[in-house]
Amino acid sequence: MATGSKRNLETAALIVGAGSGERFGRAKAFVSWRGEPLLFWAARPFARIAQIDRLVLVVREADQEAAYQVLHRLGKRGSVAVGGATRSASVRAGLATLPRAVGRVLVHDAARPNVSEQLVARVLEATGECVLPALQIHDALHRAQAQAAVIDRNGVLRVQTPQMLDRDLLARLHAENPEAADDGGLAIAAGVQVQYVAGEEGNVKVTTPQDLAWLDRITGGLRVGQGFDIHRLEANRRLVVCGVELESERGAIGHSDADAACHALMDAILGAASLPDIGYYFPPGDPRFANADSIGLLAEVGRLARTAGWSVVHADLTVLLEAPKISPHRDEMQERLAGALGLDAAAISIKATTAEGLGPIGAGDGIAAWAVATLRAWSED
Ligand code: MG
Repeated sequence: MATGSKRNLETAALIVGAGSGERFGRAKAFVSWRGEPLLFWAARPFARIAQIDRLVLVVREADQEAAYQVLHRLGKRGSVAVGGATRSASVRAGLATLPRAVGRVLVHDAARPNVSEQLVARVLEATGECVLPALQIHDALHRAQAQAAVIDRNGVLRVQTPQMLDRDLLARLHAENPEAADDGGLAIAAGVQVQYVAGEEGNVKVTTPQDLAWLDRITGGLRVGQGFDIHRLEANRRLVVCGVELESERGAIGHSDADAACHALMDAILGAASLPDIGYYFPPGDPRFANADSIGLLAEVGRLARTAGWSVVHADLTVLLEAPKISPHRDEMQERLAGALGLDAAAISIKATTAEGLGPIGAGDGIAAWAVATLRAWSED
């Protein structure tokens, strides 16, 4: 039965990420790219398309909790399944979690984080029993073995994911071939009529760390945002700067922990993502944010920007404070800010200066901070 005739049934997306990721030293699905695991980016277009009714994230047992958090951040109905030792075992584990109402399934590699909504939509619109995105090959193909040979590339295709199959067909193919690595290949071997749709060059399968650098080059533009904040200082208050509490006779007045530098950075990030300012998301009168840890709020701002399609790649801060000195704490401050945003410490620059005794800040009555944040679009669409 063609998938097209099952349109009254639900559609599920199975994102398969239970591999060990030997070349990364950790499960590839949870390698971080732009502050989120590859699994998040790979599943995101499916989460955003209304025709996809549910997601199934198939991961290693040790990654279950992290996968539930990804599912929560994606805001889509779905489940987490524990994969097996082979790809086929993982697909079968994912299928086992599906309710009977699901009639067709899109299987996608968690290692393809740059899949576009357009590609998913193209696959969904096709009506074949097995739909495969594929690309032509323009390079010459040689077989580099003892019997070196040129392969005729005419009619040879590179096949990507997501691959859409009738649910019962997919279950039957994997039940009969428990060692199989490729859903489309199984269908062809079983004599199923396969329909190809246009794949995308950007739908790269991440195999080595260099592939992530390549993805960075081919995806998205840059945005810059700036932020400023100032707080009064007075006796018997805490002084928190970039998430680090400093020993000081005077501390900052504010509703939260009054971390002016952290607040300037939050506004810079929100500005670059064209989102409202921190007063909108964390109103000063809101009791939920009384004495709030601004590092936690910064992490939330990072997530808001990512949801809007932007990831922080760099931040540069200047703190204006008469005393105490910032420099002995700079490394720790970098770690705190970078940790909240899922970045390396080297992506955060913190500079400090005094006001040379000039004006109220020079008199020790205040702290001011400026921040410039650079964000990269995770994709152009
Ligand atoms: Mg503030």
